Amino acid sequence: MTAAPVLSFDLGGTRMRAALVAGDGSVLAMAEGATPARDGVGAVLDGLCTLAAACLAQGPAPRAAGLCAPGPLDAARGVMLAPPTLQGWRNVPASALLGERLGLPVLLENDANAAALGEQLFGAGQGAQSLVFITVSTGIGGGVIVDGHILRGRGGLAGEIGHMKIAEHSPECACGARGCFEALASGSALGRRAAEQRRGAPEGAAPPTGRDVIEAARGGDRLALRLVAGHARWLGRGFANLLHLYAPDMLVMGGGLANGFDLLAPRIRAEIAQSAMPDYRDTPLLRAALGDAAGLVGMAHIVRQAAPDSGRERRHG
Ligand SMILES: [Zn+2]
Repeated sequence: MTAAPVLSFDLGGTRMRAALVAGDGSVLAMAEGATPARDGVGAVLDGLCTLAAACLAQGPAPRAAGLCAPGPLDAARGVMLAPPTLQGWRNVPASALLGERLGLPVLLENDANAAALGEQLFGAGQGAQSLVFITVSTGIGGGVIVDGHILRGRGGLAGEIGHMKIAEHSPECACGARGCFEALASGSALGRRAAEQRRGAPEGAAPPTGRDVIEAARGGDRLALRLVAGHARWLGRGFANLLHLYAPDMLVMGGGLANGFDLLAPRIRAEIAQSAMPDYRDTPLLRAALGDAAGLVGMAHIVRQAAPDSGRERRHG
């Protein structure tokens, strides 16, 4: 454990962030920018370093850093394997490359795992020993914490909850299969259904996002309210599977669609009451509390838990 802050990064397909995080999980400085995903690995790493410099100007010097990024990735080796949202990134040794630029040891972790840990320790999941964090936005990702530990599985591939099959038919999923939870219950799926139902839309109008549908429902739009209710049932069906699989102390829902949590939650709970066995039905379903900071804060904790010296050995060995 060290009193120095941790330099934490969250690399997403569209946005990326850096932060200095103190030992109590508080964010001392944060910087954010668009991810230059089309410009290649070097441009993204340079961008992360620019964000880091903005943070370092505002706080005490860190001794270690951590990067959370979309999977699949090999956390032990610090290698990003083939993230679907970062085209062309295959087997990128992100820990080593970023570490060389920063002059700091850099640990790598799956972003949903880091966010799950952040919520468990400092957000909605405080007090839980086991929880499933579900992020519902463009896709559906998840992090599973069982008995206080991140569930990793073979090659760190556990917890890809967006691709569990919950129906026979659906539009094709990003993974190429059909019937995936993500293809039916993501924010994109909600927007797609709205586009299919919308009549008389202006030619060339951008399709609505899940957030657009939520806002329309909030304004009392009847079609949007019906779509949101139907969408909540798909979410509830997937969540019931998660309850049976992991028996968490709670489910925590984050991501862009959590903006509509108040509208979705009653119907999600109703579906869980129908789909889950009785002993699972009273599991609390909570809205994530940390928003965009969850991954940064969880990542900093992972770095703090790892001994920096052995971490350096492991990454470069
Ligand atoms: Zn899929």
